[in-house]
Amino acid sequence: MKRLMLITVLCMGMHTVLQAQNQDQQARIDIVRVGSMSPTQGPKAHFTGDVQAYYSIPGGHPPNVSGGIVMFKPGERTVWHTHPKGQRTVIIQGAGWVQQWGEPKIDVSIGDVIWIPPGVKHWHGATATTGMSHYAFAERDGDKGLVENMEPVTDTQYNGK
Ligand code: MN
Repeated sequence: MKRLMLITVLCMGMHTVLQAQNQDQQARIDIVRVGSMSPTQGPKAHFTGDVQAYYSIPGGHPPNVSGGIVMFKPGERTVWHTHPKGQRTVIIQGAGWVQQWGEPKIDVSIGDVIWIPPGVKHWHGATATTGMSHYAFAERDGDKGLVENMEPVTDTQYNGK
């Protein structure tokens, strides 16, 4: 009887130790604090203008997703491009334009949420008179990556309808 009690106590002790270990190994919330990063220059292959970006979703969490805040001053925009697995974009400041190849430009402003389907040729950027910032994120597609860059958006295309 004493032996059974001893075993029971030992088992309870082990259970507590294992529980504590599980808590130590539990995944932790990670926060990229606003203001903790310095903006980086957006790549010239992808942007017209001196576009600045915070790549605060560096990839891996969620799996294969990357993204960040991109800040366009008036007149600045991406080149024409596609995303192999699409792109989600949330306007967080200012006013901008989004255009799909062969379609009219669309006005977007703070709070608007945009979905660019996979393979759709498009550009996005600020309007000619007002800057725009958006959060953009996309899923990586193996060797194709996040984006396929094409030709720049000409001033005529940019200022057109
Ligand atoms: Mn895009």
